[in-house]
Amino acid sequence: MVGGGQLARMTHQAAIALGQSLRVLAVSPDDPAAQVTPDVVIGAHTDLEALRRAAAGASALTFDHEHVPTELLDTLVAEGVTVAPPPEALVHAQDKLVMRRKLADLGAPIPRFTAVSGVDDVDAFAAAVGGPVVIKTVRGGYDGRGVVLARDRAHAREAVAGYLADGVPVLLEERVSMRRELAALVARSPFGQGAAWPIVETVQRDGICVTVVAPAPGLSEDLAAEAEQLGLRLAGELGVVGVLAVELFETTDGTLLVNELAMRPHNSGHWTMDGAVTSQFEQHVRAVLDYPLGDTRPIAPVTVMANVLGAPAAPAMSVDERLHHLFGRIPEAKVHLYGKAERPGRKVGHVNIVGVAPGDVDRVRERAERAAHWLSHAEWTDGWDGHSAND
Ligand code: ADP
Repeated sequence: MVGGGQLARMTHQAAIALGQSLRVLAVSPDDPAAQVTPDVVIGAHTDLEALRRAAAGASALTFDHEHVPTELLDTLVAEGVTVAPPPEALVHAQDKLVMRRKLADLGAPIPRFTAVSGVDDVDAFAAAVGGPVVIKTVRGGYDGRGVVLARDRAHAREAVAGYLADGVPVLLEERVSMRRELAALVARSPFGQGAAWPIVETVQRDGICVTVVAPAPGLSEDLAAEAEQLGLRLAGELGVVGVLAVELFETTDGTLLVNELAMRPHNSGHWTMDGAVTSQFEQHVRAVLDYPLGDTRPIAPVTVMANVLGAPAAPAMSVDERLHHLFGRIPEAKVHLYGKAERPGRKVGHVNIVGVAPGDVDRVRERAERAAHWLSHAEWTDGWDGHSAND
């Protein structure tokens, strides 16, 4: 797997159960996945020699991010490496313009957008959409970096001018008036088998996913079926191998728009580790190896995932002690830590909590978010004092 982050770490964890071992191409031996697999190649994902060393003798080459230049992957394919997802598919997760043009061709619902060649495009586009616009870098964005929700036209012009002056290509998109954000997570194998997990609600703060509720509460059966079908159709049309996450907006008038594609295990699927028969990490391995795909059914009426995001200042209390307290108070919390240093806003782990009844959503969400906040801040959001209270 190219990339030594938490996605590779958790994919390795799933691979072990299948009798496999993941070799990772990591930037540093401290990377989350490099800490846990004995088979590490240190190098950059932009270095063909490093990619060759990582791929040598492996059954397949896959990714924990989308940033490997497709020219290098084309070379590896020509040399006989099985690259999954293949470069022709992956490019749609690398380049937001390529993706939007392809989705438009396929008739998939997307916000109105335009490529940008100069600042004056802002006025023409804003006039055409008749409302606020969003500026996005065409490549390289993640966790909301490279996305500017413009306050007004002057702000939009300023943002576009700044990017263009730095030589960074951007696109413009209409700002969608949305009820909430959803994600469709599917997998596809080279054989052509597809499998979809239930549609989830993703809650974002400052462009970062903080909570995922599975399945999305109150989503109509029709919209859920439409989103699942869309995910499966896109996986097939784009020739995806592995997991595909389709980030969606549910608009205020109740329709779906595609925001973003990711061709790898995705934050919106972390709940599957504890809440579904087959986790997204196992499914990714199965798909990449062209095994039959696993059952995607949820094992509970509701599962909530809350990200552990580094606090503004790392707490004095050790992580070990925080875990001790957490398990004492919330024994059902399933914790997944990534072995990363704590930095403000950084994803350092997540907590899953599986509920027992559909009506549990609010309670389970509160407990999952409280657990995650405790792990990052060493503070209980309800002011509970573990040394004096009984809970
Ligand atoms: P990234 O690729 O960095 O994850 P996204 O394209 O997913 O960036 O955008 C990050 C967040 O910005 C989204 O989750 C959403 O909350 C907001 N956003 C993005 N595009 C739009 C849009 N067209 N209208 C309204 N909000 C948007």
